Amino acid sequence: MALITKKIKGTEDVLPKESYKWQFTEQIMRDESRKFGFKEIRTPVFEHTELFARGVGQTTDVVQKEMYTFDTKGGESVTLRPEGTAGAARAVLEHALENEGLPVKASYFVSCYRYEKPQAGRLREFHQFGIEEYGTSAPVADAEIICLAQSIIDRLGLSDINLEINSIGCPTCRAEYHKALREYFEGYKSELCDTCNSRLNKNPMRILDCKSPICSQIAKDAPKITDYLCNECKEHFDAVKSCLDAAGIKYTVNPTIVRGLDYYTKTVFEFVTDCIGAQGTVCGGGRYDGLIEELGGKHMPSLGFAMGMERLLMVMDKQGIEIPDFDECALYVATMGEKAKLKAFEITGAVRSCGMIAETDVIGRGLRAQMKYADKIGAKYSMVLGDNELEQGYANIKNMSTGKLTKVNLDRRFTAEFIEMHTDDENSGVFLCR
Ligand code: ATP
Ligand code: MG
Repeated sequence: MALITKKIKGTEDVLPKESYKWQFTEQIMRDESRKFGFKEIRTPVFEHTELFARGVGQTTDVVQKEMYTFDTKGGESVTLRPEGTAGAARAVLEHALENEGLPVKASYFVSCYRYEKPQAGRLREFHQFGIEEYGTSAPVADAEIICLAQSIIDRLGLSDINLEINSIGCPTCRAEYHKALREYFEGYKSELCDTCNSRLNKNPMRILDCKSPICSQIAKDAPKITDYLCNECKEHFDAVKSCLDAAGIKYTVNPTIVRGLDYYTKTVFEFVTDCIGAQGTVCGGGRYDGLIEELGGKHMPSLGFAMGMERLLMVMDKQGIEIPDFDECALYVATMGEKAKLKAFEITGAVRSCGMIAETDVIGRGLRAQMKYADKIGAKYSMVLGDNELEQGYANIKNMSTGKLTKVNLDRRFTAEFIEMHTDDENSGVFLCR
């Protein structure tokens, strides 16, 4: 049978030697969102297609062109989630989480699926960290989630990521704006791409989000939503800006940001960088006060953001952010003979119970091959155990980088003091304990 060796186009593997970078990043996201009172929600990878059609919006690129939709054997149409908000909103409604107190606050890590043209920073399976907040229309909530996104970016040590904000108003002020947009784009009808032509009547704001160079060029001079905001939306936007100013968060107002979902209202924002090429938006979010109603619930103003994990990791890589790798093997015990294997089990067990990484041979290789492996995995210390060592009750522990040997008594217990050795190599009685 032919070997199946190729992953699907637009998907990526995270290999064991790389996963610490993801874990480090995820831990910071978990930590920071916890401080703001967000708790993790986990929802299924697939949902009824209808949920995304309504929750993401019929006129979006995602729903029109990018979804992985299929019929199940039972004849249902299901879709692999293209984003995290719709599933979270569905779960909030289904479990009536609003009864547990408002606002409902949830964070998530999800894999997402979109049939897009794969390129650097644009995949068909990608990953997002995001947060969702339901049941508040206050501008301070908008500012607070922006602060959370900023604090994650800061704790990751990233620089040159700029916050751009905008308000896209509410259905009231948007009616006027849509009219103005339609009039403007009608003048360029023959130049707009087919998709944008179809958007002209249904949702002309989507044209502002088109990635085609011609459409985005035309969109540059289109009327600006900020000139059409109703009083309430204007006040809301001003209040968000005041909160951000008070928190010392730097931003620029960019009236061309409209975001990818249909149900965004009022505040929208993006964190953008130009250090990883064209796909420079690492985080996008805002308010979607109409979403819950669109999904059949009562009016419940909501907001959130999502960060693209792959893009963030690309920025970290590009900016040379040092990520600590805690997965270094502390002790490798090489063995010769059956008795030594048993002793090695005892020693590695004791070291592990101190919370450190210990390995021994599980293949049955010769000493040379075992030491080569210890070197390969970057073991900090190694020890060779054979009949001689067992008879004498002593073995040498070798510092793999300096080559220094320290004789240790095998009859003593290997415990927590082992940890000290890492900070004080001179005092390497070390692996042993009282
Ligand atoms: P873009 O304008 O880049 O297509 P979007 O508006 O479709 O982004 P959202 O749906 O808001 O993106 O998703 C939030 C974040 O998820 C984006 O800011 C980006 O970092 C990431 N993201 C979106 N699509 C992809 C993809 N195909 N591959 C990798 N990351 C993605
Ligand atoms: Mg997109």
